[in-house]
Amino acid sequence: MYREILDRYIDEHKEEMLEDVKTLVRVDSVRGEAKEGMPFGEGPAKVIEVAEKMLSGYGFKTTNYDNYVITADFNDEEKQLDILAHLDVVPVSPSDWTVTAPFEPVILDGKIYGRGTADDKGPAVAALYAMRAIRESGIQLPKNVRLILGADEECGSGDLEYYYKKEAEAPMTFTPDANFPVINIEKGRLAKEFGAEFSEEPVLPAVTAFHCGTAVNIVPANAFAVVKGLSMETVNAAIASDESGAAFTASACEDAIKIVAKGVPFHASMPDGGNNALCSLLELLGTLPLSDCPQNRTLKAISGLFPRTDYYGEALGVNIEDEVSGKLTMNLGILNYEGSTLCGQFDSRVPVCGNNENVTRVIENKFAENGLSYDSVLLTPPHYVPADSELVQALMACYENYTGIKGEPIAIGGGTYVHELERGVAFGCEMDGVDNHMHGNDEFMEIDVLVMSAKIFADAIIRLCK
Ligand SMILES: [Zn+2]
Repeated sequence: MYREILDRYIDEHKEEMLEDVKTLVRVDSVRGEAKEGMPFGEGPAKVIEVAEKMLSGYGFKTTNYDNYVITADFNDEEKQLDILAHLDVVPVSPSDWTVTAPFEPVILDGKIYGRGTADDKGPAVAALYAMRAIRESGIQLPKNVRLILGADEECGSGDLEYYYKKEAEAPMTFTPDANFPVINIEKGRLAKEFGAEFSEEPVLPAVTAFHCGTAVNIVPANAFAVVKGLSMETVNAAIASDESGAAFTASACEDAIKIVAKGVPFHASMPDGGNNALCSLLELLGTLPLSDCPQNRTLKAISGLFPRTDYYGEALGVNIEDEVSGKLTMNLGILNYEGSTLCGQFDSRVPVCGNNENVTRVIENKFAENGLSYDSVLLTPPHYVPADSELVQALMACYENYTGIKGEPIAIGGGTYVHELERGVAFGCEMDGVDNHMHGNDEFMEIDVLVMSAKIFADAIIRLCK
């Protein structure tokens, strides 16, 4: 049985595997300034160099794609499976780490700590050990598996853009850069700007300023507006009868009143998990006795298109959904208005059934009806590999074998490393219910999960490269 041989090999090489994770984690591979031959700066180039030594040291044929990507091939046979992981990491705030310094990995209580242990150097090494186990156990593969290690996943995947200009996509790809079991659907995304210009001063009583949001992919938690021509009693009465759940405070500033709203931040792909301070504040403003000037009318119209509890684009007429990927989600993340100009931006995650006809155009028409201008951005299409495909079925079987847990393929609103690929899915390594603090402080990987992942990947390679 291959499985027993490979499992034993991986168990016996656990310490070596952890040493290799540490070696990679010690390289600060946060993206830096581009230099000649170093498209993502010195750190990412250094980690590619270190990885190249590691991969070739285990007898794999490596290719360095100009410090964008390093690859290791199992053999010279026909291309079948690509495993896609990355060696760059997100920035750190060292003073917030409590267990160890971010680039000084340590092992404690069955976990290995350090930046990149979970995202994504640990999973990259698990994939390497899967290939190593097969090779050193003398098992031949009729088709090739290639490990592809990129250096720019965290800042826009410029690494893959470069690589796939030179190489074709394999018949199957998985990336251990997310969670188990298998993510086979990633929604599409539409993030669009809209705006308005006003030639005359607002007629009082009016909103004279509104500011909210810095990142469109977050449910905004802080917003403020300035109103003129109303008494503090009127404003406070509106706040007292507000039911949005946001916390409002009003204060006098010169001849105006500033209203501050506090909501709850959340990821834009799950807007119902937060409390949108922007929409709550617009709703509150809508209850004030304001004049019917263009500025007030426009703010009211925006509130009507993005009601506070309308997480699924109903008011915009795009509340579509399908069985495999769920509902469209809508997050109004940014709005800035200062008397004569207004500019906002939303972020919508679009199910597989969505396209430019039934989403983008519908929203554009609604904007036009309400006198809002908009940019020409189109939908980034969804990513979908059918659940009954050979790839998903095989990976799911491997996962179930080793965990004993029945797995269901997952649809997410965010995007993974394989979003642009036609035949790629995300597979590992975060386990359900465990938060590895990816992108956070004290990032860690559970050693048992790392070892199990290597075994799962070895099993997957054997099944898929037959
Ligand atoms: Zn990652």
